[in-house]
Amino acid sequence: MIVVTMIEPRDFIRTRIVADLDSGKCSQVVSRFPPEPNGYLHIGHAKSICLNFGVAQEADGLCNLRFDDTNPEKESQEYIDAIQRDVQWLGFSWAGEVRYASAYFQALHDFAVELITAGKAYVDSQTPEQIREGRGTLTEPGRNSPYRERPIAENLDLFARMKAGEFGDGAHVLRAKIDMASGNINLRDPILYRIRHVEHHQTGNAWCIYPMYDYTHPISDALEGITHSLCTLEFEAHRPFYDWLLDNLPSLPHPQQIEFSRLNLNYTVTSKRKLKQLVDEQLVSGWDDPRMPTIAGMRRRGYSPEALRVFCDKVGISKSEGISDVSLLEFCVREQLENSAPRAMAVLRPLKVTLSNWPQDQVQVLTAARHPTVDLGDRELPLAREIYIDRADFEEVPPKGFKRLVPGGEVRLRNAYVIRCDVVHKNADGEVVALECSVDLDTLGVNPPDRKVKGVIHWVSAAHSVVAEVRLYDRLFRDPAPDRGDADFKTCINPESLTVIREARLEPALAAAQQGERFQFEREGYFAVDSDSTPERLVFNRTVGLKDSWGKVEQGGAAAAKHGGQA
Ligand code: ATP
Ligand code: MG
Repeated sequence: MIVVTMIEPRDFIRTRIVADLDSGKCSQVVSRFPPEPNGYLHIGHAKSICLNFGVAQEADGLCNLRFDDTNPEKESQEYIDAIQRDVQWLGFSWAGEVRYASAYFQALHDFAVELITAGKAYVDSQTPEQIREGRGTLTEPGRNSPYRERPIAENLDLFARMKAGEFGDGAHVLRAKIDMASGNINLRDPILYRIRHVEHHQTGNAWCIYPMYDYTHPISDALEGITHSLCTLEFEAHRPFYDWLLDNLPSLPHPQQIEFSRLNLNYTVTSKRKLKQLVDEQLVSGWDDPRMPTIAGMRRRGYSPEALRVFCDKVGISKSEGISDVSLLEFCVREQLENSAPRAMAVLRPLKVTLSNWPQDQVQVLTAARHPTVDLGDRELPLAREIYIDRADFEEVPPKGFKRLVPGGEVRLRNAYVIRCDVVHKNADGEVVALECSVDLDTLGVNPPDRKVKGVIHWVSAAHSVVAEVRLYDRLFRDPAPDRGDADFKTCINPESLTVIREARLEPALAAAQQGERFQFEREGYFAVDSDSTPERLVFNRTVGLKDSWGKVEQGGAAAAKHGGQA
């Protein structure tokens, strides 16, 4: 876990918090992360989590996890469980027990009664359409409801009967009495409560009136003693109501709402509604499909929590709307793996090679370091007469600059000997199906004295290798802005976002790989053992390639330099 240090004013929110601590406006920072349990968390939420838990940690304060569960129809226990798992996996722990806005339903109700009694809220009996029409537009003021001047006693009576279940859904609502002509539509008598005869995952059938999010949030913050209520910019226009409400409930403390810009990522959809659509319409295998920008998906794909935290840190906190480059995220993932993932050889598209001068039953057990710079020990690499190399490492008619195996040419087997291709076997269709090569037995760990062998390729022993399924992922969307406007985001799904290789061949040390373990398959990329994997049938996900394959500026040469390299 992160060591507690003094909070540094490295963005406008931290600057403000430092000022509030210095001035004595607050003595301990209390923040909260308030997800609605209506979907899985995604990369955008990771930014909010890192900010909320981050500032609390840095300031030696507290951060609550609170489910803003006021929409029972769309919520479920599955989401509640997934969200807790994801926050913990990201490396954070919340203060005390998990909180639920629904635990405050009684208090929220009582504050509503307080507002009614003070003449600041009323029961409106217009139809939902009439209420919508009466609200006006950005350019036109709204109209007062004919029920706006109801006597307080009548409002109290109707609200009590709403709560008692006397009315059907939509028959009445409770509204704040503010200003129907306000330039801010959120202040045009916003709805505080509506009738919904539905069961709630936490409160069962105790309630048939449910508070609105905008009403629930400020009061929940206040009840929890939140000092800084950090939210995304779209809530800026809601702040006047946040403040109005707490100004009119003088028994409650008044947290400070501060808005920051959301995280947007190119080639990525970060709307829960759209992500849910991908799941519901089975365009992906589930919320944790490794192509999903969900925390569960990224975890399954092999991203580490540290990489996500570093990414959120690099993106930073500001008020300006921008689109972050998904390459930056991939860079963070790669950088973290470069320094931690053990190396292994895996042949994704096997081509059989017979080493013609290698004795029939001879097995030589070679060893290689698991990591070039970090001491992770060694692994054993048995070499026998029959091996597999990658189909892509042999070309009969090589393109210019091709440094790997060609007929009559030489190449080094990584961590082993130099071989020369003597015979090419083809099938009836003219496809290459096998090679015969001879081994230069004097080249283990040394270069031949009389000639230069440029290429180095990876390999596995045919008899000793383990078969595995390898899933190669590409971006889920081809369009850099799949989330844009009304365009149907599903039309730009990348049809090649998943390629399944059923018969890859891995070096034998990988036979014991456990779910979640991450490796660098040398020359191929970083791979993680999938949750579908079993000891009988290993399944790997490609987490990220060794370098940015989308032709962008190469960030950080270290990872890219792994291509080729010496034996
Ligand atoms: P919904 O449409 O369901 O409200 P949401 O993305 O707002 O979706 P919440 O569960 O309400 O989801 O989000 C929890 C917290 O995460 C909120 O404080 C919200 O502002 C923040 N958050 C959501 N999306 C992003 C994002 N892309 N970048 C930064 N913060 C985000
Ligand atoms: Mg929300």
